[in-house]
Amino acid sequence: MKLHILAILTHPDDAELGCGGTLIKHARMGQQVGILDLTQGELGTRGTPETRLQEAAAAGGIMGLAVRENAGIRDGFFRNDEAHQKQLIVYLRRWQPDIVITNAPEDRHPDHGRGAALVSDACFLSGLAKVETTYEGAPQAAWRPKRVFHIIQDRQLSPDFIVDISDAQETKMDAIRAYKSQFHDPESGEPITYIATSAFLEQIESRDRLLGKRIGTTAGEGFITKNTPGIDSLDALLLPDIA
Ligand SMILES: [Zn+2]
Repeated sequence: MKLHILAILTHPDDAELGCGGTLIKHARMGQQVGILDLTQGELGTRGTPETRLQEAAAAGGIMGLAVRENAGIRDGFFRNDEAHQKQLIVYLRRWQPDIVITNAPEDRHPDHGRGAALVSDACFLSGLAKVETTYEGAPQAAWRPKRVFHIIQDRQLSPDFIVDISDAQETKMDAIRAYKSQFHDPESGEPITYIATSAFLEQIESRDRLLGKRIGTTAGEGFITKNTPGIDSLDALLLPDIA
């Protein structure tokens, strides 16, 4: 299966929070969109790896993903090294995404910046024919995604561009709420964590609305790119609904 967009993020729910609306939008356009979660988030205070896998699958269904897999990398202590890069290259060559979305380049949680560096390095190395990998016993051809974009997470980094998600924000919040063990639930007897307060989801929604305001729409998601994007003409930057 070839994917158009592959989001590779450290923890299950990173994708929903940072680029859920964008993924939903592209899936609705009929494109093949997938998520690879690097870890099972097993160091998270609430829930278990099993519940998080079930929640991730449910959220993926809500978003209309073509595929969602978990790389089973160790939460909190993984390294950006050859073994992990090669593990990701197998996925990249298998799914051949044109666009990869990954974590914020730096963030409150140290896994996020490290995950972003691991994914960026794997995307580059995947394009080198002399880096050899196999999948199901067969050698894989080199593949380099055309673009790697970073989401914005806890730190208020400045976006290089903002995607209008006005029509997808409601579904995005539904996908986030599929992580019942992680986010606010007044019935839950589990400890209250940073992301389990009732304020956290409101802050996510407010951030998306503020980003939308910056581009004249109801809601938006911001992205960072290390390579300056080129456009055909200035018209590519015109959103039809902005007066
Ligand atoms: Zn995370």
